[in-house]
Amino acid sequence: MDLFAEGDSRSKTERLGELEARAKECQACGLAKTRNRVVFGVGNPEAPLVLIGEGPGQNEDATGMPFVGKSGVLLDECLREQGITRKHIYICNVIRCRACVYQSGRLQNRPPTQEEVKACQPWLEQTLQIMQPAVILCLGSPSANAIIHRNFRMTSERGIWYESKYARFAMASWHPAYILRLEGEAYETARRELVRDIEEARKKVIQAKKEPQKTTLF
Ligand code: SF4
Repeated sequence: MDLFAEGDSRSKTERLGELEARAKECQACGLAKTRNRVVFGVGNPEAPLVLIGEGPGQNEDATGMPFVGKSGVLLDECLREQGITRKHIYICNVIRCRACVYQSGRLQNRPPTQEEVKACQPWLEQTLQIMQPAVILCLGSPSANAIIHRNFRMTSERGIWYESKYARFAMASWHPAYILRLEGEAYETARRELVRDIEEARKKVIQAKKEPQKTTLF
């Protein structure tokens, strides 16, 4: 069955649920062999704002939920400062299985390869096709590379709004895991910038609701 055939009258929740069930069986790249769980996404399928990170880490792989552990706590704190909870938004990742390498006697997180990102792209695209979000906030470079443009540079392009084929407005901010690696004033500055970018995304959602909708790729 074509999940996305024109005239599909099912709700976004139903369609996303069916997509998630299919993704949980995915064997399209080698990460299927080492994952414990497919981390599909969490939140409100009707949300106009989608946050997209890089990929699951150890905690996410263990729980099946994106952004848990320390980076999830930091993200939730920053969202709360703007009056946002996970019920208001949807959160997912560029890849849905943990990328890891066996090092020093244990599995350690590693960045996904281009092939893994490409293999997982259909799940991200279909998620966005169903949701049709007005605003996407990319967390970290891999997400910005997938959503905004391939050569995205976080240091010079963070906080700038772009038009994306996946949403009317897309912007990138720091990944919480990156912020957690900083110390002192650098940590405080990056954290403030993430909160400010979330605030900008919240305002953009309000702006998008007032403007007539443009035709999108989908
Ligand atoms: S990372 Fe994506 S493409 Fe690879 S097995 Fe997991 S769901 Fe499939």
